[in-house]
Amino acid sequence: MTRIAVVLMLAVALAGCAQDGKQGDKATPAAQAQSAPASTAKIEWPRVAAPRIDQNRAFQYVKELCAMGPRPVGSAAHKKMEDYIVSHLQGAQIEDDRFVQEAPQGKYPLRNIVAKFPGTKDGVIVLGSHYDTKMIPGFVGANDGASSTALLLAIGDQLRANMKNGKRDGLSVWLAFFDGEEAFGANIDDADGLYGSKRLAAKWKQDGSASKIKAFMLADMIGDKDLDLLSDTNSTPWLLELITAAAEPLGNQSHFFTSQRGGIIDDHIAFKDIGVPVVDLIDFEYGYQNAFWHTTEDTPDKLSAKSLGVVGDTMLQAVWMLDAR
Ligand SMILES: [Zn+2]
Repeated sequence: MTRIAVVLMLAVALAGCAQDGKQGDKATPAAQAQSAPASTAKIEWPRVAAPRIDQNRAFQYVKELCAMGPRPVGSAAHKKMEDYIVSHLQGAQIEDDRFVQEAPQGKYPLRNIVAKFPGTKDGVIVLGSHYDTKMIPGFVGANDGASSTALLLAIGDQLRANMKNGKRDGLSVWLAFFDGEEAFGANIDDADGLYGSKRLAAKWKQDGSASKIKAFMLADMIGDKDLDLLSDTNSTPWLLELITAAAEPLGNQSHFFTSQRGGIIDDHIAFKDIGVPVVDLIDFEYGYQNAFWHTTEDTPDKLSAKSLGVVGDTMLQAVWMLDAR
């Protein structure tokens, strides 16, 4: 992951101290005020009972991914993880996209993996996560890479369990596993990072898939024991509202959108840019002042199965609510 862009970001960058994620602390009151979701014209969401994920199994997936070691682009462990992901998605239709990415630092082999669960209704919900880990020696990315990847696999388990005659009773759901989210240089900027999502958004715009997407929900860094998901000003207001409405019947509200740090730059932006409604579910306070982020301290002991359950259950609830609209 990722960086936070706020009103003052340019000034901060020019001052030579732009460090991913740190700019958010400088969010102005004006930026914070803009980020509040619209409270007028509240949408009436249907009441539905969605399945819950198996949070312990999700946490087990996190541990198994981390046990592979660091999984940066091009590594043997990354390849092992690709096989692991695909092997856990049986029953879904796999859209596999391997490509060579030109980056400022050279050429890299990347692979987006999309698992499609077809539905009886027209329209698609995309749930996304990046699965690559930052190229830092000894960095296993338990929260940053593994948590959201494991979450999508656990969500896939529930989607598969609730299919009838090969279809969901509702919208199609596509699980998108993005490669190359992390910058090869120090930080994500316009020229480096978010490669997989940019590639997939362009592809889906070109082939017409993008016009079918009702909602794109991204998960990133969602395993922290101390779970506090940001209200991101780059997310679509009605989708923030949907997630809030989905969290309520589950008693999960306290983990969602209580803090605001401006606009998050993450894999949702490429889809926002082509007109898709997006929401980024991200906790960007990982350890005191984000101390564990992009360090070898990002290990499974900082995570909890409960946090994975909070996010996974809420996302499933949101999917079921969209199905019923
Ligand atoms: Zn990262």
